Amino acid sequence: MSMATTQTLLNHWIDGREEATRSGRHGEVTNSATGEVVAQVPFADAVEVDAAVGAAVAAAPEWESASLSERTRIMFAFRELVHAHREEIARVLTLEHGKVTSDALGEVQRGLEVIEFACGLAELLKGEHSWQVSRGVDSYALRQPVGVVAGITPFNFPSMVPAWMFPLALAAGNTFVLKPSEQDPSASMLLGELLAQAGLPQGVFNVVHGDRETVTALLTHPRVNAVSFVGSTPAAKYVYETATGHGKRAQALAGAKNHAVVLPDADLDYAADQIVAGAYGSSGQRCMAVSAVVAVGDTGDRLVEKIGERLERLVVGPGDEPSSEVGPLISAAARDRVRGLVDEGVEERAELVCDGRDVVVEGHEGGFFIGPCLFDHVSTDMRVYREEIFGPVLVVTRAGSLEESIEVVNANPWGNGAAIFTRDGGAARSFELRVSAGMVGINVPIPVPMAYYSFGGWKASLFGDIHMHGPEGIRFYTRGKVVSSRWPQAADAKIDLAFPTAT
Ligand code: NAD
Repeated sequence: MSMATTQTLLNHWIDGREEATRSGRHGEVTNSATGEVVAQVPFADAVEVDAAVGAAVAAAPEWESASLSERTRIMFAFRELVHAHREEIARVLTLEHGKVTSDALGEVQRGLEVIEFACGLAELLKGEHSWQVSRGVDSYALRQPVGVVAGITPFNFPSMVPAWMFPLALAAGNTFVLKPSEQDPSASMLLGELLAQAGLPQGVFNVVHGDRETVTALLTHPRVNAVSFVGSTPAAKYVYETATGHGKRAQALAGAKNHAVVLPDADLDYAADQIVAGAYGSSGQRCMAVSAVVAVGDTGDRLVEKIGERLERLVVGPGDEPSSEVGPLISAAARDRVRGLVDEGVEERAELVCDGRDVVVEGHEGGFFIGPCLFDHVSTDMRVYREEIFGPVLVVTRAGSLEESIEVVNANPWGNGAAIFTRDGGAARSFELRVSAGMVGINVPIPVPMAYYSFGGWKASLFGDIHMHGPEGIRFYTRGKVVSSRWPQAADAKIDLAFPTAT
């Protein structure tokens, strides 16, 4: 595998092989645990984007007409290869992203489950058929590929989020150009190589690295038909508006502030365990991270104490150290931003119960670490509540009742995930029905749907209306067509100008 481990300049993956950059622009990829630069990543210009899209356009007719069995065999072979290389992929994730090994392996596994779902493509792509909708007339509905799909993905899941997109897009007969995050781009190259080994024809899957300029070239390219995006809210809005403004189908999954409501009847030890895992796993760099707790009634003090006790025991360290539980953030800029937001929370007089700002990891002083932070008595007008912090920082706010807690969650502009901890089935049911979020957890802190359901938020967490993977993924990557068919007999010949109705 051609993964860079020194300061080499990475290549794009175009037409089934590595393609050197000609743009002259590039960025740095760092080892988040040490701060060392491990590779340079090229930033593709419009000419390079055109080459990748051109390869996808050229490969489309053959791939679209490949039989369902051929596509299925390639998907199964790819599934086997990803499974066999899961540890290698996880190592790349830990090196560039910084997440701890168990978390990286979990990410690879969740991506694999989408690939496994895509292996059922023959079943998923079945259309509908109605015999005799009128005398001698049959109707049937087809789902056809949309053409060339562009995928633009964030740093926080460098293998899973691409895998939310391309397996279903390819299964449905589309060709694909991936623009992964420039902060941890190597996993996508591994996936490209494994797809080639699985027998995917050249040009069906391509990777171009880059920044906003690269993304814009994809969004405005006349031969790109659909755009799947996952990332921050401002970028998602730009991508959705630009892509749809250029006549493309688009879905743009965006940022989040996920709430966990804790009712007084909840098992508080269980809730504290789950909230700590949901808030501080992957150092809080998950779009489904629990980032705000709404403690109802008299639960606040007891819950904060229990969360605090657990935070004291969490081990902050490099991702490849087996004892580490909280790895570094993605970059020095991300760490400084999170630290700045915590400083601001203190200035705004939220109570900083646990302060991880000055954590030092011995032997890794150059790494982008920040330890777990916990704020209590946070009000919804404070910046630590209003912003998506995307770091190991949890804020606790309080509400007088279930009713009030739902109002807090629903007043928040985001609506990705929301969880409730309770032993009361009626309260949970009421929450589930009334909360404005795309994914709801009942005593489950990070309710990420399995691959055979769809993933997506509401409000400012999604631009567009179709969620990712599962049945909605198939819908997004196909276009509907309804055929009405008659095989006329000589006796049927006549002219009738009335609007046709069933006879
Ligand atoms: P980001 O928006 O900075 O980058 C995402 C992708 O968009 C990258 O490929 C990047 O190169 C590109 N990009 C960045 N700025 C752009 C711009 N102005 N115009 C066009 N393209 C741009 O996001 P990130 O920091 O890599 O990832 C973290 C964010 O992603 C968080 O906000 C998180 O909540 C969100 N996220 C959401 C989901 C979800 O399913 N809703 C999943 C994962 C991550």
